Amino acid sequence: STQPPPSQNGKGVAATATVPNGPATTPASQNAWSPSSWKTKPIAQAVMYENREAVQRSLTKLQRLPPIVTPTEIVKLKNSLRDVALGKAFLLQGGDCAELFDYCEENAIDSKIKLLLQMSLVLIWGVNKPVVRIARMAGQFAKPRSSPTEVVNGKTVPSFRGDILNGYQPDERDIDPARLVSAYFHSATTLNYVRAQLASGIADLHKPLDWELGHVRDPELQSKYQRIVASITDSLRFMRTVGADTAGQLQTVDLYTSHEGLLLEYEQSLTRRLRHPSNYRAAPSQEAGDDGKGWYNTSAHFLWIGDRTRQLDGAHVEYFRGLENPIGIKVGPSMDGDELVRLLDIVNPKREVGKVTLITRYGEKKVEGMLSAHVEAVKSSGHVVVWQCDPMHGNTITTALGIKTRYFASILSEVSSALRIHQEHGSFLGGVHLELTGDAVTECVGGSEGLVEEDLSLNYTTFCDPRLNEKQALELAFLVAGHYRG
Ligand code: PEP
Ligand code: MN
Repeated sequence: STQPPPSQNGKGVAATATVPNGPATTPASQNAWSPSSWKTKPIAQAVMYENREAVQRSLTKLQRLPPIVTPTEIVKLKNSLRDVALGKAFLLQGGDCAELFDYCEENAIDSKIKLLLQMSLVLIWGVNKPVVRIARMAGQFAKPRSSPTEVVNGKTVPSFRGDILNGYQPDERDIDPARLVSAYFHSATTLNYVRAQLASGIADLHKPLDWELGHVRDPELQSKYQRIVASITDSLRFMRTVGADTAGQLQTVDLYTSHEGLLLEYEQSLTRRLRHPSNYRAAPSQEAGDDGKGWYNTSAHFLWIGDRTRQLDGAHVEYFRGLENPIGIKVGPSMDGDELVRLLDIVNPKREVGKVTLITRYGEKKVEGMLSAHVEAVKSSGHVVVWQCDPMHGNTITTALGIKTRYFASILSEVSSALRIHQEHGSFLGGVHLELTGDAVTECVGGSEGLVEEDLSLNYTTFCDPRLNEKQALELAFLVAGHYRG
C-alpha cells in the first residue's frame, strides 16, 4: 500500500492512527514484510503532511540517492554487538537528544568525536574490554513529542518535531517536506567529515589528548582522575615504544552512527535490498536458496525504536522487524516482561545474538523494581541481547523556574543500580546510552564542576532534552570505569 497515514487532527502529533481495513489485529510476524508493510499498521507519532505531492517528490529523490552507510559497515557493527552481548566488549553510545542541521559544523563535530574517544579510552581502561562506539549523530533529526503543540513566548505553536520536519523557530513550525531531503544531506555531510577526520588522524592514539581536568574542584577526585589519565597515557606510550602498532590500529578507531527510526517514510526510502557482505554471519535458521541479499537501512548503522513507538502491533515494530541492521529498543517503566519477550520474538525471530540492544530507561527510583523482572524474563526466553542503560530519559525533571534538567547524581545512581542489578542476576551491563555534547553547556545539574540549578541559564542551548556537557560526560565515564576497577 502507498496510502498515506490517515489524518487525525490535521496537524501535530497524533496518538495512534489506525488505518481503516488494516490487518491491525494480525500478529506482525505472520505477514509478509516489505519496506512499506508498516503502512498497514497503526502508527504512533504520525505526521500529518499537508502537501503530499511535495512529500512524494522528496521521497522519490531520497530513493535515488546512494546509501549513507554500507552493509559491510553495518554487519561489522552487528558482529561487534554480538561480542558485547557475549560479554567480550562494552558499548558506548552518545550524542545530542535532537541533532540540529546547524550542528553540521566543524567544531561541534570535532568536539563530539574527541569526547566519545576520550570516554571510550577511560572505559577500556576500566572495563578492560574493547569499546564499541556509536554516535547519536549524522541523522538524529526526528523527535517524538508528548503534545502536538507547545507554548513559546506566550503563543501556542505546533511542537518542534526535529529538523527533519520543522524548524525550532516559532515561525518555522509548519511541516516542510523539503526538510526530508535536507536531513539526508546533513547526515551525509556530517558523516563525510567524521570519516575524513578519522582518516586524517583525529583519533590517532599516538597524539597526546587534552584531558582538561582543571575544573574538578575536589582535589582528591582530581588526583584520582589524573592517575587514570596517566595510566592510559603510559600504556599508549609503551605500546608505541615496543612497536605494538604494526597494523596501524592505533591511528584510528571505528565510530558508528545511530538515530531513532521514527520517521518511517524517510527510513523506508533509504532501505535497500543489498547483497550480504563477506563478513555476514548467516543466522542459524537461515533458509537455503535465498538470493544472498537482505534489507539494509542505509541511513545509519544502528537504529532504535523509541519508548513511545514500540507497540507490538504498530508500524514501527513492523518496519524494524525486516531490517538486517542491529537495532535498539527503548524500554521504559510501562513495559511488561511478557510484552518485552513478545517484542523480541517479533523483531528477532532468528534469535541472532546481539542483534537487539535493550536500552533500559526507567529512572533512578524505578530501576530497582523493573530491571530484575526484565532480565529474568529475557533470560528465560533464551534471547541473548545487549543490555544498555540509558540513565537520562527516566530522570528528567523540571526546576521551580520551569527549566527541564537532569541531576548528575540521579544519572549516576541509575547506572550504578543497573550495574548491580545485572550482577545480582548473573547478567551484565553491556553499555551506556547518553545524551551529551562536546560543548560547555549548562543543562544538567551537578558533576565535579558543581553546577547548581541557578547556573542552568548560563549556557542552556539544547532544543530538546538536557545533555551532559563534556566534563560531566567524561566524569561519568571515570565513575563507570571506577566501578569495575574498585
Ligand atoms: C530519546 O532518546 O531522545 C528519546 C526520545 O527517548 P525515549 O524513546 O526513551 O523516550
Ligand atoms: Mn532525549
